[in-house]
Amino acid sequence: MIEVNVELKDRRYPIRIGSHILAESSSYAPLKCGDKVMIVSNPTVAKHYLTTVSDSLNRLGCKVSSVLIPDGEQYKTLDSLNLIFTALLQANHGRDTTIIALGGGVVGDVAGFAAASYQRGVRLLQIPTTLLSQVDSSVGGKTGVNHALGKNMIGAFYQPCAVIIDSASLDTLPKREVFAGLAEVIKYGAILDLAFFDWLEQHIDDLVSLQPQQLQYCIQRCCQLKADVVARDETEQGDRALLNLGHTFGHAIETHLGYGSWLHGEAVAVGMLMAADLSHLLGNLSRQDVFRLEKLLARANLPTVSPDGMSADDYLPLMMRDKKVLAGKLRLVLLQRLGQAYVTTNSDSELVRQAINHCSQ
Ligand code: NAD
Ligand code: MG
Repeated sequence: MIEVNVELKDRRYPIRIGSHILAESSSYAPLKCGDKVMIVSNPTVAKHYLTTVSDSLNRLGCKVSSVLIPDGEQYKTLDSLNLIFTALLQANHGRDTTIIALGGGVVGDVAGFAAASYQRGVRLLQIPTTLLSQVDSSVGGKTGVNHALGKNMIGAFYQPCAVIIDSASLDTLPKREVFAGLAEVIKYGAILDLAFFDWLEQHIDDLVSLQPQQLQYCIQRCCQLKADVVARDETEQGDRALLNLGHTFGHAIETHLGYGSWLHGEAVAVGMLMAADLSHLLGNLSRQDVFRLEKLLARANLPTVSPDGMSADDYLPLMMRDKKVLAGKLRLVLLQRLGQAYVTTNSDSELVRQAINHCSQ
């Protein structure tokens, strides 16, 4: 088992990474004998892992309850949150309870917000089971639900007491979800770590085929990179924004197609290429490095061109509605070079168009 720590002074917490560690009671510290826990999951994930997790916690001497919310982004809602509160109240959970999020980013975000708000805050433990949630959403404390008028509009920053990542849980994850997670993995290399980007070029096939050792190293590296960013900038006043490379373009794709048609990671893959292309047009990233990024994304089975029929005219109005727009100015993350990103509010819209067109069919 490998451990990475998120250094937030008195709220410091460990991320434990290993294979088949959900079956070991020792993985669950700081939980101990006598603790009361509420596991929040969904039917898809519960089918594979709820018994394993409950058994480990029972062996530890915890008092275990569980509640399932429906599977899907469309259930990342106040209704699901309320389901969790009802289950907690019905089973008499007090302020000393611990909520365990067992699932992908949706379960993690909803259960995390439940923990942030139930009786003004109870302990939270994250067990992410998708690659995206393991390398991204379970680390850093963003929690929340969607509103009919906007995604992630209601929530809180709330850090877990520990994150437990079992790389073997990815064996049951649909391949397309694995590839979508790899988009965020590649993003870390592109924005923060050239050596990791090089490593990915050498090992991407091992990751695609879920080789345990390479997978664990990859998750560890991504968690370390995210932990470092979060420790520097917990509430996204500065550096944390770099993690949004490709996301403004990507959100335009997701919104244009309607949520659920392309996975988030797929949209981010194309978005990163557009950002890379724009960086090149602005005289930063070399043409060769844009090509390296494109090749790596393609090898991870990710799309590298816009959805059919989507043009620059479709992107720009949607991009201007992005949360990251400040005072009517598009705020984009671009690449100085591979491994080094920066934020700019100074991108000529004609060049943005060109970059979009270069990555369109
Ligand atoms: P998800 O939670 O919807 O999971 C994808 C699918 O995989 C679901 O059907 C799920 O039930 C299933 N699944 C999960 N683990 C499985 C397993 N081990 N085996 C089989 N099936 C499994 O999607 P996601 O990509 O994990 O997360 C997306 C969500 O994360 C979005 O709501 C997004 O807003 C959020 N997010 C949050 C943050 C953050 O910092 N909090 C960061 C990025 C994304
Ligand atoms: Mg993302």
